[in-house]
Amino acid sequence: MHSRFPLIPDITLSQKDPLLSDLLKKEEARQQSKLSLIPSENHVSQAVLAATGSILTNKYSEGYPGKRYYEGQQIIDQIEQLAINRAKDIFSVEHANVQPYSGSPANLAIYAAFLEPGDTVMGMSLPMGGHLTHGWQVSVTGSWFRSVQYGVNKVTGRIDYDEVRAMAKKERPKLLFCGGTAIPRLIDFAAFADIAKEVDALLAADIAHIAGLIAGGVHPSPTGYAPIISTTTHKTLRGPRGAIVMSTRELSQNLDRAVFPGLQGGPHNHTTAGIAVCLHEASQPEFKLYAQQVVKNAQVLAEELTERGYELISGGTDNHLILIDLTSKGIIGKKAAQALDQAGIVTNYNTIPFDPRKPFSPSGLRIGTPAVTSRGMGEQEMRRLASFIDGAIEAAKRESALDLKSIANEISNLAIQFPAPGTC
Ligand SMILES: *Cc1c(COP(=O)(O)O)cnc(C)c1O
Repeated sequence: MHSRFPLIPDITLSQKDPLLSDLLKKEEARQQSKLSLIPSENHVSQAVLAATGSILTNKYSEGYPGKRYYEGQQIIDQIEQLAINRAKDIFSVEHANVQPYSGSPANLAIYAAFLEPGDTVMGMSLPMGGHLTHGWQVSVTGSWFRSVQYGVNKVTGRIDYDEVRAMAKKERPKLLFCGGTAIPRLIDFAAFADIAKEVDALLAADIAHIAGLIAGGVHPSPTGYAPIISTTTHKTLRGPRGAIVMSTRELSQNLDRAVFPGLQGGPHNHTTAGIAVCLHEASQPEFKLYAQQVVKNAQVLAEELTERGYELISGGTDNHLILIDLTSKGIIGKKAAQALDQAGIVTNYNTIPFDPRKPFSPSGLRIGTPAVTSRGMGEQEMRRLASFIDGAIEAAKRESALDLKSIANEISNLAIQFPAPGTC
């Protein structure tokens, strides 16, 4: 395998640390030969990898551009400012902080900026599709704060805004989160903004999963509705592992102080550079096509699975993500996910709303199309994938390792025709 980075030839890694180098090559081969349908994963470009794997990791730069606690920031300041400006442009926000280490610390910064311990936060519960950091008990956001949690309607599988409003009026949260990890439908930011206004809560839109869809114009933007917007950069946005937290000018100072020095020390400049690159890519016309294709692919996959008798939470998808209730298929999520992995299709088992089973062995399977779309796959490939998924699940029920192996071969042949960006 030849080198990916002209500046840091792989030969260095393979000579200096053959053990790690070998593991890296094996992981690269795994990513190449299997297909990731994990909706929070993606394949970044070589440009993003080059920035992220650069000498910027050598520099300390506590503070913000123009106000640093270390010297030697002539270039770093320009890099961070570039990332900030691009984030402001793409999401049309007044303020952006690109320093949070990842999505969870970005959300924690929102609490640190605007809440006191014991204050009330209201978010979507994790098993209903929310995120740990929206006040789930095992997260400090659920133990250091008073947390109340909304879900989805049992019949529609969708957020019921009247239920959310009633709960907000009763509980009077100081902070209201919208967004999540397993929401297959559009989020009505205007409805959340109305509710937040009625109860005088601060609305935070966590767009971690859908940031790339918003940037690509296929999901409405929370800008103008939510004064605070947080996002990871490594999901549909297709950047390095990192996060951005955005706000109105009014809230910017509190938010910046919460990120640094409230929660963090030096920013990860190599990540900041990777974020700048991914935001540049997200501003190109090709990115719109990618975002459109992500949604088209998810909808075709959803239709094909429905035709094969799969029950989808909310009956389908508006975005990149599909949540399947496997109960009617007579298989549990974990067993299905393990069989699919054996067949070369990487997914994750997931709770479904009102899941009668335990979180570690739930009834659902969560799949998504960002990674396969980044490999260049379209509707035709989604039809084949649906048939492979169904085949693998039926093979799992028969416990046929042989059939799973034969699907894995076909997946590998398909994957080779769609090389993952960023790999050789
Ligand atoms: C992924 C995700 C996060 C957290 O991101 P990490 O980088 O894993 O900490 C937060 N909120 C939502 C909605 C997410 O999907």
